[in-house]
Amino acid sequence: MEKIYRIAIDGPSGAGKSTIAKAVAKELDIDYIDTGAMYRAIGYKVWTEKIDPASEAAVKEMLDRTDIDFVGGSILLDGVDVGDKIRTPEMSRMASVCSAIPAVREKLVEIQRGMAARKSVIMDGRDIGTNVLKDAEVKIYLTASAEERADRRFRELQEKGETQTYEEVLEDIRQRDHQDMTRKLNPLQKAEDAVELDTTGMTIDEVVARVKEIAFGK
Ligand code: C5P
Repeated sequence: MEKIYRIAIDGPSGAGKSTIAKAVAKELDIDYIDTGAMYRAIGYKVWTEKIDPASEAAVKEMLDRTDIDFVGGSILLDGVDVGDKIRTPEMSRMASVCSAIPAVREKLVEIQRGMAARKSVIMDGRDIGTNVLKDAEVKIYLTASAEERADRRFRELQEKGETQTYEEVLEDIRQRDHQDMTRKLNPLQKAEDAVELDTTGMTIDEVVARVKEIAFGK
């Protein structure tokens, strides 16, 4: 049997984690697991069902009847592909709020570990190297300046016809950085044994090449 390996990519919003992880997964022919999409899917369910995220009992009741999975790279919430519903600024905020709830993290981390138990994966998020896959063979902390991250996200949103201004996107990024880095449970942090890669000014191809070099060039 071939040896399995896990590549953990963490970093703040808009650092390019999913673009890079997707490209690396394709080149290496391994699964890509987007843990942010899982928190977004929970945020989407909380939002559509008008559940109060502050009510632990209501959130737990919802989690007990919630199924989250990735099939062929698509995020399935209770068997339905919600990929096109979860990429809005509202769902970014909902994901961030829900990700601070202990019961939500507990459930999603268990699913994530299960997904990486039997096959090689590249998994991105905020706590992969520090918590979910502490023993991952490769850990990368991907970052970029807040301005560059806001600029990338702004262009993406514009292409989708969203009307947020650059200043609003930058403010959102700063707020999410603050929330993700200061929450009590598994805050965003660089794992001690992660390699930090600042992608400010780098192209996607350059970052993919560097990630492969970090993963296999040692
Ligand atoms: O990566 P993405 O922006 O899609 O993640 C949405 C939100 O989900 C993040 O802002 C963060 O609050 C939360 N998240 C998390 N832990 C992860 C992945 C995402 O808390 N492993």
